[in-house]
Amino acid sequence: MANKWVYMFSEGDMTMRNLLGGKGANLAEMTNIGLPVPQGFTVTTEACTQYYEDGRQINDEIMAQIMDGVKKMEEINGKKFGDSENPLLVSVRSGARASMPGMMDTILNLGLNDDVVATMIKGNPDPTFERFVYDSYRRFIQMFSDVVMEVGKKYFEQLIDKMKEEKGVKYDVDLTAQDLKILAEQFKAEYKNQLGKDFPSDPVEQMKLAVEAVFRSWDNPRANVYRRDNDIPYSWGTAVNVMPMVFGNLNNESGTGVAFTRDPATGENKLMGEFLINAQGEDVVAGVRTPMPIAQMEQEFPEAYAEFVKVCDTLENHYHDMQDMEFTVENKKLYMLQCRNGKRTAPAALKIACDLVDEGHKTEEEAVAMIDPRNLDTLLHPQFDAAELKKATPIGKGLGASPGAACGKVVFTAEDAVEWAERGEKVVLVRLETSPEDITGMKSAQGILTVRGGMTSHAAVVARGMGTCCVSGCGDIVMDEENKKFELAGKTYTEGSEISIDGTTGNIYDGLIPTVDATIAGEFGRVMAWADKYRKLKVRTNADTPADAKKARELGAEGIGLCRTEHMFFEEDRIAAFREMICSDTVEEREEALAKILPYQQGDFEALYEALEGNPVTIRFLDPPLHEFVPTEEADIKKLAEAKGKSVEEIKAIIDSLHEFNPMMGHRGCRLAVTYPEIAKMQTSAVIRAAINVKKNHPDWTVEPEIMIPLVGDVKELKNVKDVVVATADAEIAAAGVEMKYEVGTMIEIPRAALTADQIATEAEFFCFGTNDLTQMTFGFSRDDAGKFLDAYYDAKIYESDPFAKLDQTGVGQLMEMAVEKGKKVRPSLHCGICGEHGGDPSSVEFCHKIGLDYVSCSPFRVPIARLAAAQAAIADKSK
Ligand code: PEP
Ligand code: MG
Repeated sequence: MANKWVYMFSEGDMTMRNLLGGKGANLAEMTNIGLPVPQGFTVTTEACTQYYEDGRQINDEIMAQIMDGVKKMEEINGKKFGDSENPLLVSVRSGARASMPGMMDTILNLGLNDDVVATMIKGNPDPTFERFVYDSYRRFIQMFSDVVMEVGKKYFEQLIDKMKEEKGVKYDVDLTAQDLKILAEQFKAEYKNQLGKDFPSDPVEQMKLAVEAVFRSWDNPRANVYRRDNDIPYSWGTAVNVMPMVFGNLNNESGTGVAFTRDPATGENKLMGEFLINAQGEDVVAGVRTPMPIAQMEQEFPEAYAEFVKVCDTLENHYHDMQDMEFTVENKKLYMLQCRNGKRTAPAALKIACDLVDEGHKTEEEAVAMIDPRNLDTLLHPQFDAAELKKATPIGKGLGASPGAACGKVVFTAEDAVEWAERGEKVVLVRLETSPEDITGMKSAQGILTVRGGMTSHAAVVARGMGTCCVSGCGDIVMDEENKKFELAGKTYTEGSEISIDGTTGNIYDGLIPTVDATIAGEFGRVMAWADKYRKLKVRTNADTPADAKKARELGAEGIGLCRTEHMFFEEDRIAAFREMICSDTVEEREEALAKILPYQQGDFEALYEALEGNPVTIRFLDPPLHEFVPTEEADIKKLAEAKGKSVEEIKAIIDSLHEFNPMMGHRGCRLAVTYPEIAKMQTSAVIRAAINVKKNHPDWTVEPEIMIPLVGDVKELKNVKDVVVATADAEIAAAGVEMKYEVGTMIEIPRAALTADQIATEAEFFCFGTNDLTQMTFGFSRDDAGKFLDAYYDAKIYESDPFAKLDQTGVGQLMEMAVEKGKKVRPSLHCGICGEHGGDPSSVEFCHKIGLDYVSCSPFRVPIARLAAAQAAIADKSK
C-alpha cells in the first residue's frame, strides 16, 4: 500500500502527535470531541522527512494526496479551491511535534488571485465586503512573499506606512477598500520587482510552494536555535495543517483572539487572553494593534464568548492542563483554530501543577513530570531588592510579560545586545516590537522592553520561553529606533542609558535597581518535595567555598560531589606560597612551601565540613597544570624571586620550563602527585585534620572524607597516589588517636580509565565521572576551544547540540555505562557519580539515572533542576 501522507482532521486523534504534529493531533482531537473546527487536513511529519530526502521537494505522490485532501475539504465545506464562483480559501500552517511558538511559518488566505477576488466582490456588493476581500488579498500577497518567497516584510510594510501617511490614518483598519486594492497592486509590483517574475496566480502552485515553505522552515536558523535550546531533535520534522479560512477580518461582527485557560504569567485560574475585532490572527501576535482583553469580548460578542468559555472548560477537562488557544469569530460564530498545552512562566508552571493536583486533574507524579526543569532557572535568578524597589518610582508601565527583574544598559538592536553582552555589559534590549530575527539578541539581554504588543506578542511568548524578564506594550515610549533613542516620562534615553524593568508588574524604572537572589518556598517548595519523594538519584553540588556550599544546601544539595581544591590556591594570601612550591628545586624546599599552605587548606576544608553539617564531601586533589599558577607580571616575578632567594632570570627559566604544547593533556591531574607526592601528602593531612577537628566539635555528624584522585588512566597511577594518601591519612588518624573512616576514589575522565574500569575499581572505592574531560578526551577536541567550530557543525548537521553541555550518550555515555558495569562487578559497593557540567543538564541527568549512578553533582543554581530531572527520570522509568 502506498504511504499515507495526508490525514483529514476526522481521521486523527491526540495520540498521533508524532505523525501529525502537536497542532494536527489537537485539531483532530478537537474535531473528535465535537468542537467547532473548520475541517481540513494534516500533511504528516513523515512527508517533511521525505521532502528532505527527495532533495527538498514535494514528490508527486505527496502532492496528489494533498490535492485529494483539498477535494475532500471542498466537499465538506461546499466551496471550491480556485473557483471563480464559490472559492475556498485556506490557511497553511506548520505544526511540529513539540510546539515551537513563532519559529516556523504560516500563510493565510491562500487561493486568492485577481479572478477569485473579482468574483468574490461581484457576488457581494456590500462595500465592507469589498474592503475585506482586498484586505485579505493584500495580506496574502504580503505573507506569501515574505514566508514562501523570502522577500523581506519591510518592503510591504513601507508601502502600507506610505499609504497610511498619504491617507492621514493611523491604523490599517482605517484604510478603505480602494486603498487596499491599490496596495494589493503595489504589492504584486513589488513582488515582481524583487523576484523578476509575476506573483503566482494558480492556487495549486500556491499550495505546493506554501507546503514546501513550511517544510523548509523546519531548517531555518531560528528554528535550529530554538531546537538546540529546547532539546528537540532535527529528525522529527514538522507537519503542515491546511484549513479552510474563517475570516476574523470579515467585518465588525468578526474578530480573532488568542487565550489561555489560566494566566500563563502567574498561573492564576482565570481566563486570560486578547481579542481584536475585524482582524486576522497575525495582527494579535504581531502586536501591530494593541488588542482588547478577552473579558471585553463578552460585551462585543456575548454568544461567541459564552461558547468560548464552555470550550475552555471542555478542553481543560479533556487535556487536564492549561490550554493555549487560537480562535476566530466570523459573523458572530466561534471557530477553534488551535489548542495546545500552553507555555508558561516558571512560577505559573509551579502554581498550575499544584492547582491541578488539588483539583484532582493530576497525581503528584504527573505534576512533577509536567514541569520543564530548565524553566526553574528563572526562579533562581535575581529579583529586585525589596527595599531598593520601594524607593524607586516607575517612569512608565507596560505589560508584565515575563517575570523576573532586570537592569542594564539600553541597546536598540539584537546585534548590539549580542555585542555588548559579549564584552561583559548587562543590557536591556528596547525595541518597537521584536521579531524572530531578534532571538539571539533577546537571549543575550537581561531583559526585553517593547513599545508594542500584548501578552501574546512575539516578545512576550519568546521571553517567557527563555525565562528572560520582559515588559511589553509600553505605548508611552516615544521610540526613535533609527537614531537609537527613546523618550519616556520627559527624559531621553540613548544607547547605554541605564534602566530597570520588572517583568511581573510591568514597571519601568530609571537607573539600576540592585537585585537579590530568590529562594525556594511556596509552590516551588511543594513541587520540589514531591520531586524528592520520587527520585532515586542523589543530588550533590560542585562547590569550593562555604558560601557556594551553603547556597547549594539551601537549594537542596545533599553533599559536595566535587570540591576543586586548586581554586583555593588562587587567593591572595596563599598564591605566594603556592608559587614558592612550584619554583622549588628540592623536595625539602617544596615541603617547606607546602607547610605554609597546609593550615590554609585545613581551614578551608573545616569550613566546608561545617557548611555541609555531616553530609558527604568529595575533595578532589590538585588537578590543573602548574603553569596556570605562575606569575605573569614583572613585579610578581620579582617578588617570587626574592622569596625564593633566586634571580629573576632563574624564576623566568622555571616558568618557561613549565610551558607545554598540550597542557590539557600534559603534566596535570594525578601526574602531579606522581611527580610530587609531597603535594598529595599535604592535601591528605589537611583533609584528615580538618575532618578530625570538625568531628570533634560535632560528634553526631558523619564526617567521612572522600578523597578523589583526578585524571587517572591506569590503575598503577591510582595505586601510586593512593599509597601516599593512605599512609599519610592512617598516620594522621593514629597520631590523633581517633577512629575515622575515609574513602579514596577516582575521577573517570580519561577513556582508558573507563575501558579498564574493572582494574581501576580494585583500588578505587568510588568513581566520579568527570565528563568535561571525558568528553574532551573522547572527542579529541578542546573543551576550551570547541566554540570556535561548533556553529559550523550545527550548520552542517553534524551535531545538534554542544557535547560539553548535553552529554553525548552514544559515545561518552557508552564509556560511562561500561565503566559502571565493569567497576561494580569487581567492587559491588562502588558508588558512582558525575561531576562534569552535564550533572545539571536534564537529559544528561536522565541518562545518569538510567545507567544506575548514585548521584549527580552540579553547580549550586542547577541543584533544583537536577532534583526535578532526577524525579522525572524515575517517574518515567516507573511508568514503563
Ligand atoms: C571534569 O573534567 O568533568 C571535571 C569535573 O573536572 P574539571 O572540570 O575540574 O576538569
Ligand atoms: Mg577534569
